[in-house]
Amino acid sequence: MGEEPKQKRKRVMMKKSKHVIIIGGGVIGGFAAYYLLEKGWSVTIVDKERFGQGVSSGNCGLIVPNHILPLNSLSTLTKALKWMLSEDSPLYIKPRLDAGLIKWFCQFARHAHPKAILRSAKGRHALLKSSFELYPTFMKAEKVDCDWDTGGSLHIYRSAKDWNDYRRTNTFLKSYGIEAQALNRKDVLQLVPGLGNGISGGWLYRQTAHLRPERLMSGLQRILLKHGVQILDNCPVQTFQHRNDHATGIVTRDSTLGADAFVLATGAWAPEFEKVLGCSLPIQPGKGYSITMDKPQKFPGIPCFFEEQSMVSTPWPDACRLGGTMEFSGFDSHLNPRRIGALTRGFNGYFHQWHDRGNKEEWCGFRPMTMDGLPFIDRSPRLKNVMIAAGHNMIGLSAAPGTGKLVADIMAGAPPHIEPHPYRIARHHK
Ligand SMILES: Cc1cc2nc3c(=O)[nH]c(=O)nc-3n(C[C@H](O)[C@H](O)[C@H](O)COP(=O)(O)OP(=O)(O)OC[C@H]3O[C@@H](n4cnc5c(N)ncnc54)[C@H](O)[C@@H]3O)c2cc1C
Repeated sequence: MGEEPKQKRKRVMMKKSKHVIIIGGGVIGGFAAYYLLEKGWSVTIVDKERFGQGVSSGNCGLIVPNHILPLNSLSTLTKALKWMLSEDSPLYIKPRLDAGLIKWFCQFARHAHPKAILRSAKGRHALLKSSFELYPTFMKAEKVDCDWDTGGSLHIYRSAKDWNDYRRTNTFLKSYGIEAQALNRKDVLQLVPGLGNGISGGWLYRQTAHLRPERLMSGLQRILLKHGVQILDNCPVQTFQHRNDHATGIVTRDSTLGADAFVLATGAWAPEFEKVLGCSLPIQPGKGYSITMDKPQKFPGIPCFFEEQSMVSTPWPDACRLGGTMEFSGFDSHLNPRRIGALTRGFNGYFHQWHDRGNKEEWCGFRPMTMDGLPFIDRSPRLKNVMIAAGHNMIGLSAAPGTGKLVADIMAGAPPHIEPHPYRIARHHK
């Protein structure tokens, strides 16, 4: 959009543009708006709270094209059984009878076989690769001030066996053109001084990036407003109005708004619209926590994944963030001090001499978790002019530009820049 040729701009201005309403102002809704504008749509975004303030702001800020494997695996299921009832562990499931959650876990387990994992990996790879290519162009064109850094990331292991076993994953990822470098203990300590004892080794990915997500979201908001997008905050959408197989408007708390087309990008809340859209969207809120603070001395200068704790540390020039944990407790947004404590204790376990400098901001948000690790990017089966783009699991920030561009391609009837088949809604009815 930044460098649009004059000719193209003139053509777009001469045509009366069609109007699309995007429901949900997270990173997925934001990038959908960006690429729909490029195709000449006039865009309105409505959010039940405020644009960019949901899970898209407090996440760890990593753009990770290597995260092509979904969580579904036998080893995750074994770990989950061990961890699930302990409030201190990386995964916690609040004990309760919730038919939707039980069904979701059964579907999750059914997708933990090699064929399903390969299918997910292929779909995730395409979205992640496309997004990793689109991000630099976006950053260059729009000059968003969000601490964009392409310095790589490091996976750190305590267990020598797990570190060694990762060779198999690395061999698998190589077939997708993604390769990590094995680092022994000495190499890891050289890269991240201050790490305590008990480290066996690490895997270094050079082709990853990181940014400050809340700054990306405010930058994106500024760009969209500059290009005429209307953003309506505090505007919860209750349902769609429709005539035959076409949506004609959305019903909000205060009014009804009409448009030619609609995009549902409400992340973990997408299932609220299942009935009117005529499909089931098995998405569960996977609550995660983060702590943002002034950067202490000796904080790792490269984003680190601490594998045994399933947690991440991200450095920025003037702050840093610890994030992780997965909690299935519905939409309970209270900050559980034991889960926050688990994050700091986890980090303290690696950096014995680390002292935080106070001034901390604790946060939690809901990842939109699907049963197979793939998002839904498809038209509603009942209302043909409604696109659904939701369920980006733990990679929404990494996969947002590719998703936004795919939404815009499909809505323009243009050849899609990536194959949309893996993200169709009907896949889970089989
Ligand atoms: C701790 C943590 C760390 C993470 N780290 C990373 C990372 O490093 N890299 C990465 O790629 N991903 C990461 N993620 C995942 C990533 O944050 C999500 O996948 C992504 O932000 C999802 O974006 P979204 O736009 O779909 O959802 P959201 O950001 O939740 O946006 C949905 C929006 O829809 C609005 N909405 C909902 N219902 C309605 C309604 N009825 N009417 C109007 N508006 C509505 C909500 O208010 C919200 O603003 C992390 C997540 C967590 C929790």
